[in-house]
Amino acid sequence: MTEFKTYSFDGKKVLIRVDFNVPLNKETFEITDDKRIRAALPTLNHILNQGGSLIIMSHLGRPKEGPEDKFSLHHIVKGLEKNLNRTVLFANDCIGSEAVEKSKNLGKGEVLLLENVRFYKEETKGDLDFAAKLAKLGDCYVNDAFGTAHRAHASTTQIASFFPNDKMVGFLMQAEIESAKKVMEHTERPFTAIVGGAKVSDKTLIVENLLNVADHIIIGGGMAYTFFKATGGEIGNSLCEEDRLETCKEILGKAKEKGVQIHLPIDSIIADQFAENANAQGCSSDAIPSGWMGLDIGEKSITSFREVLLKSKTILWNGPMGVFEMSQFANGTKAVAEAVAEATKNGAYSLIGGGDSAAAVQKFGFADQVSYVSTGGGALLEYFEGKELPGIAAILN
Ligand code: AMP
Repeated sequence: MTEFKTYSFDGKKVLIRVDFNVPLNKETFEITDDKRIRAALPTLNHILNQGGSLIIMSHLGRPKEGPEDKFSLHHIVKGLEKNLNRTVLFANDCIGSEAVEKSKNLGKGEVLLLENVRFYKEETKGDLDFAAKLAKLGDCYVNDAFGTAHRAHASTTQIASFFPNDKMVGFLMQAEIESAKKVMEHTERPFTAIVGGAKVSDKTLIVENLLNVADHIIIGGGMAYTFFKATGGEIGNSLCEEDRLETCKEILGKAKEKGVQIHLPIDSIIADQFAENANAQGCSSDAIPSGWMGLDIGEKSITSFREVLLKSKTILWNGPMGVFEMSQFANGTKAVAEAVAEATKNGAYSLIGGGDSAAAVQKFGFADQVSYVSTGGGALLEYFEGKELPGIAAILN
């Protein structure tokens, strides 16, 4: 693999894939959160400072049938200019004559943003001819889009084959890989994984893989109730995946065999409806009356989870402990964030998976008190499921 840090970008046209899939205001199309742009800045600025020019590729949203203005990357030009502190040129297409012309005329230190690569279905299909057209625009290829590293798309994977000696990962991708490896391969023990969120079905593979490496697995959020049901508990109207009851039993059985301790939330905050202003009270998680549902972990659970976390040396967190978007049911997720921050302060390494867990540590003000907050939800999940990420493999192999 070519080393990004030492590669000579001087005078090169650098084709870079980033994840600028930023949220936009639905009416004004202004960027509402530019953290994905900020995350790529060290890589972009390094290339520009070394005398390279940038040809930026990204996707935005999930366009289905070709170009749609609401998914156009021209909406982010201003935000990118502000972050880079320089003019950003835009090509109305990512391939074709305009993209070719503008790339060709790009001078040192100049920046060209290409239109959404997903306006072509060839992108998500991983079409080699489409990748070849993109590849023609640049002299070398950098992938800094960890958020899409689990997709074998044309601009994230196939394109790398056109740059056998000039393909590399940027600083963001490198940091993501290093932090994931620190947890999975250079693990300091005890290693505790916290898994939460709505569905067991989404998290089965990661839990099964974590059984091979973790010492403790804390399970919270809506997914915990299928485990309680599987072991004979009463869970009222809480979330439950009937077709995953066996899976839960198997996970508990395997954990016992492997000596991994599974920690379920012994008590819950239950509500009489799924609403911010619902009536709510504490309750044992395996004795929830009918008509009520568990929407957060309770005080006893918080105390026991905290105890495990404070003894841990490595922590991975993916998925909230409750419906943290509603203030009445945010306490468990907040308390776990606080405990992870405290463990980190005491020397533990903590990695927060993207998506909702990242949003939660951000929301509660702990983002700078953990070791690393990943920018990739699905990608990180797949890494911890033990899968090879095609975007990274295409560069390394
Ligand atoms: P996921 O995308 O699977 O990580 O799930 C995240 C979502 O799960 C968040 O939007 C939470 O509001 C939701 N969630 C967490 N705990 C519960 C619960 N006990 N009941 C219903 N939804 C929950």
